[in-house]
Amino acid sequence: MLVFHFYSSNSQEGVTQSMTKSFELILFDLDDTLLYFEDYWEQGTKEAFRQFPITESLNADRLFETYQEYSAYYVEKYHQQEISIQQFRNNRFIRTLNDWGVNVDEAAAHRFNELYHEVSTRFMIAAPELSPLLDMLQRSYKLGIVTNGTREVQFDKLKALGIESYFPQGGVIISDDIGWEKPDPRIYEAALSFFAAQPETTLFVGDSWKNDVVGPGSLGIASIWLNKKGEPAKQHPTLFATIERLDELGEKLTS
Ligand SMILES: [Mg+2]
Repeated sequence: MLVFHFYSSNSQEGVTQSMTKSFELILFDLDDTLLYFEDYWEQGTKEAFRQFPITESLNADRLFETYQEYSAYYVEKYHQQEISIQQFRNNRFIRTLNDWGVNVDEAAAHRFNELYHEVSTRFMIAAPELSPLLDMLQRSYKLGIVTNGTREVQFDKLKALGIESYFPQGGVIISDDIGWEKPDPRIYEAALSFFAAQPETTLFVGDSWKNDVVGPGSLGIASIWLNKKGEPAKQHPTLFATIERLDELGEKLTS
């Protein structure tokens, strides 16, 4: 186990304290942290359009442009918790096809989503630095995942990346299994409970400020924010560090 110096400003006392932090458990987000969505989404969707009976005769590239717009529109509604993840996925397909003069129902949208799920795993490729990083980390820490999604889909991603073996069985906490989504504190509690870990010795790593920094922070879990998109720097009392690429994680944990 390594020991880190963790500086945190305590606003109540108006002083900057230096704490020594000893992490034992690292919890990762999955989507856009261990696996980059942009790397497989476009190719996987176009391939699904080409294979799906209703869309096979349409121009997959142009269809994808429409689909991308509806996807951006509905994902926002999903993030605002106005619609479910299922509605988000179905609506973007139904509306896209409507724009193309084709009427489809929820059942067809569901079948398309399943086909997409099946074909997209082919385009999921682990970043070359991922396995060496996990190899290194597993020597010093217990490793887990806390992710929003469904079991089948999330496990297929882990299999596609070839990184399943880094995480103990039960150490991949999936919102659909336990009934709470990040940033609900109960999903992080479930992870702490599985690993019999304390928040003080746990580190969360992920790309979502809300789900991977603020959410775990509500239980006192420190975080490393993966700011892939170069958003303006942010502060949070439990933020341990900000990185722009996952492979900076090793440096942050050994410097
Ligand atoms: Mg994420």
